[in-house]
Amino acid sequence: MNYQSTRGSSGEIGGCGAVARGIAADGGLYIPEEFPHITPEEIEILAGMDYIGRAKVILGMYFPEFSEVEMQALCEAAYGGDKFDCPEVAPTVKLNDETHVLELFHGPTCAFKDMALQMLPGLLTASLRKTGEERKVCILVATSGDTGKAALEGFRDVRGSEIVVFYPRDGVSQVQKLQMITQEGKNVHVCAVAGNFDDAQTGVKRVFADAEIAKKLDEKGIFLSSANSINWGRLAPQIVYYFSAYCDLLNEGVIKCGDPVNFCVPTGNFGNILAGFIASLMGLPVNRFICASNANDVLTDFIRTGTYDRNRTFKTTISPSMDILISSNVERLIYLLSDCNAACTAERMKALSETGKYTLSETEAAVLGEYFWGGCCDDEATKAAIRANFDAHGYTADTHTAVALSVLADYRRETGDDTHTVVVSTASPYKFCDSVLSAVRGGEYESTTALFAELKAATGVEIPAPLAGLDGKKVRFTDCIDRETLGGYVLQVL
Ligand SMILES: *Cc1c(COP(=O)(O)O)cnc(C)c1O
Repeated sequence: MNYQSTRGSSGEIGGCGAVARGIAADGGLYIPEEFPHITPEEIEILAGMDYIGRAKVILGMYFPEFSEVEMQALCEAAYGGDKFDCPEVAPTVKLNDETHVLELFHGPTCAFKDMALQMLPGLLTASLRKTGEERKVCILVATSGDTGKAALEGFRDVRGSEIVVFYPRDGVSQVQKLQMITQEGKNVHVCAVAGNFDDAQTGVKRVFADAEIAKKLDEKGIFLSSANSINWGRLAPQIVYYFSAYCDLLNEGVIKCGDPVNFCVPTGNFGNILAGFIASLMGLPVNRFICASNANDVLTDFIRTGTYDRNRTFKTTISPSMDILISSNVERLIYLLSDCNAACTAERMKALSETGKYTLSETEAAVLGEYFWGGCCDDEATKAAIRANFDAHGYTADTHTAVALSVLADYRRETGDDTHTVVVSTASPYKFCDSVLSAVRGGEYESTTALFAELKAATGVEIPAPLAGLDGKKVRFTDCIDRETLGGYVLQVL
C-alpha cells in the first residue's frame, strides 16, 4: 500500500509514513496509489461484526504495517470501553421509510470530530514508532471550537505526545470554552489568545515556521505536528462509518446487499464526504453523495458548474463548523477526478492561491456531477428544517445536520429520487443548543450550560453526560496571552 502526494512527489511511503508526515514536502496531500476493493460478500461479513470489527478490517487495508493484533488494539483504544455513550458507536436511526440518520456524535466531545480524533493519536504515535521517530510529538492546535476539544480528548494521556491548544478569547461559545478549560490529562495545555480565530491561527502558524523554536524543542527531544483534517490519519477512520451505516441498513432489512444508497453530508472542509466517496471507490454501493452547505455556498457552485471560486463574502452562520471558503480536502477529489494527474492538481492549487479560482475540464465536471449533487441553505431554512423534523418525526437535529436535512428535501423535490438516503449527523443538538432551542421554541438564547435543561424540557432528548457534567468540573487553564507570544508559551509549558 503506497501513498502518493496529490502534487507529484512520490516515493516509497506507506500509511504510517503518510500519517507521521501529515503533509507532503511539495505541499500536497497523501492519497493511496490504489484503493483496496471490498466485495459484496465481504460487506455481508462486515455486517456481522461490531463497529470495532468493521474498523479493524477497513483500516487494516490501509495500514498493512500493523499486525491484526496491533490494529485490534488501536481500534479498541479508540472506540472501545466507555468512550462512546452507546455500544453501536455510530448508530443508524430511522427517520422515515427512506431516510436514516447516521449519528456520529456519541463520542466524548459530542461532535463527529471524535470519530477521527479518537483514532488519530494512537495511529500517529504508533506510526512514529514504526517509522523510527524517537522524539516526542507535540500537537499544536488553533481552534474555533470543536476541533480543539476533540483533539484534547483524543491526545489526553497518550504516551509519547503532548498537546497545546490555543483558542480565541473573543471567538468561542461559553460551552466550548468550558469544555476546553476543564480538560483533564497530564499532557494537555490550553491557553486563550487575545483576539479572534485569525489571531490564534496566525500565532500558531508562526510557531510552526520558527526554526529557533524547532531547534530548542529538538534539544528537549520534542517536535511539532498538527492534527488537522488534511492528515490521512484523520481521513481513513472516517471511511469506516460509511460501510458501517450500510451494514446497519442491511441488518435492519431496509436494503439487500448490492442496493445503492445515497449519503447526504453537511460539509465544510470536505473531509467527511470525501471519506464516503473513497468508500464508494472501494466498492460500497452508492447512488449519489449529496453535498450540503450553509450560506457559504462555494461547494454548491463547484458541483453545479465545475468552477471552484472562493471570491465571495465569508458568512457567519448558525452552523459554524461549515463556515469555510477553501475546503482543503477538495484537493484530493480533483486529483482523483483528473485520473491522478498531479501536475494538473498542483497547477489548480496554484491558481486557487493566486486568483482564488480554477475550472475543471468538461469531462471532469460531468463525472463530478454524476457522483455528487450540491445544495445549500441559509440560517432561516436551517431552523425551519430543525422545526419540521421535530414536528414530523420527533427528531431533534443540530444545526449542521439540519442543513443536510434541508438540502435533502430540495434534492428530492428537484430530482424525484427516492433511493434510501443516509443523512450524516455531525453534532449533538446540545452542542448548538441556543440555535436548536430557538428553532424548536422560538426566541433568542445564548449558549450556556443553563440552557441544557431547557432544551431537554423542550425536546425530551437526554443531555449527553460529558456536557451535563461540565458545571461541576474544575477549571484548570486560565492563561490568556498575546498572539506574538505563543512561541514562548509553548517552550515554557513543554
Ligand atoms: C467539522 C464539522 C463539519 C464539517 O466536516 P468536514 O469534514 O470539514 O466537511 C460538519 N459538522 C460539524 C458539527 C463539524 O464539527
